[in-house]
Amino acid sequence: MDVRIETIPAGELKGGVVPGQAFDFGKAFSDRMLIMNYAPDRGWHNACIKKFGNFSLSPATMCLHYGQLIFEGLKAYRRQDGRIGLFRARDNLARMNASAERICMPTVDVEETYDAMAQLIALEKNWVPHDEGASLYIRPTMIGTDPLIRLKASSTYMFYIICSPVGHYYANGMKPTGIIVEDSYVRAVRGGVGFAKTAANYAASLLPAKKAEVAGYDQVLWLDGVGLEYVEEVGSMNIFFKYKDRLVTSQLNGSILPGITRDSVIQIARSWGMQVDEEKISIHALCADIEAGRVEEIFGSGTAAVISSVGALRYKNRDYTVGGNEPGAFSLKMYAALTGIQYGRITDPFGWTTIVA
Ligand SMILES: *Cc1c(COP(=O)(O)O)cnc(C)c1O
Repeated sequence: MDVRIETIPAGELKGGVVPGQAFDFGKAFSDRMLIMNYAPDRGWHNACIKKFGNFSLSPATMCLHYGQLIFEGLKAYRRQDGRIGLFRARDNLARMNASAERICMPTVDVEETYDAMAQLIALEKNWVPHDEGASLYIRPTMIGTDPLIRLKASSTYMFYIICSPVGHYYANGMKPTGIIVEDSYVRAVRGGVGFAKTAANYAASLLPAKKAEVAGYDQVLWLDGVGLEYVEEVGSMNIFFKYKDRLVTSQLNGSILPGITRDSVIQIARSWGMQVDEEKISIHALCADIEAGRVEEIFGSGTAAVISSVGALRYKNRDYTVGGNEPGAFSLKMYAALTGIQYGRITDPFGWTTIVA
């Protein structure tokens, strides 16, 4: 795949970020974006890196009506040695293909798209923040673009990548979050689209998230969409429960998003000799375990926050506190291990990091 690089007049470039700069998550964007188009007879074509800017789309564009929209989220890190690295980027593209198949969209060639993304990030290296814990958030997106309001799969698509510099999630130290177990709304159901990073899942989560916020909680813990009994995930993170000598997380069942951070946590914990079980977790058994002091730590995992400690949980009008509402030693150790690999502070025995500049 040849990527055409449009020249942008120097006067139109903002140039990048400076050390110490503050960012409002997801609000500022780098100078350039990558775009390519799909047509049935041409496959993916017209790959181009150009100036970040608005699109012009017909109001009838299919993705605006029927939700053929999938995305990914990953980060570029400025490493200790000054080079720019990505973390498991090919895994994000492979997951995007799994989402694409579920939503009847075309897949991308992982290697070619990785190379195009790497070229974009290399050009945007001045946009990768310098400060501890900050990074350049990368958002690959794919939309169905036929200008047609007839319910069927689009025949044409657009794939694009935009980049947004983001600050340290824990600039003031990791504070435990409070979560509320949602016992009426569900995020996803068996046989649905829960495992896909597709727009519909996030639209469905907004009202329960707002309810949780009004009630004074940071995140919603989702239960399964069939019997509201088994723990699925939290907000847009996967969830882990640390017992004395094992780590437990929900088994992937089609309605849970298979997080890359989740998989990384599992592999790191196992490399430490820890037993990790992926299983069906009953909310009732879990609450009993918390009450009996058997659950030492709870944390969420996801690209944005990496590890998010959970200090309090509310289920059916009862409050449960975990780990004295302080981030636990295991959560902090896992956070240090993951970010250590991402920023190149420790060697990466898993081959997860790739260098782009
Ligand atoms: C993106 C996402 C996650 C976390 O996935 P990572 O690959 O670890 O960032 C978990 N749950 C949901 C619903 C998500 O959208």
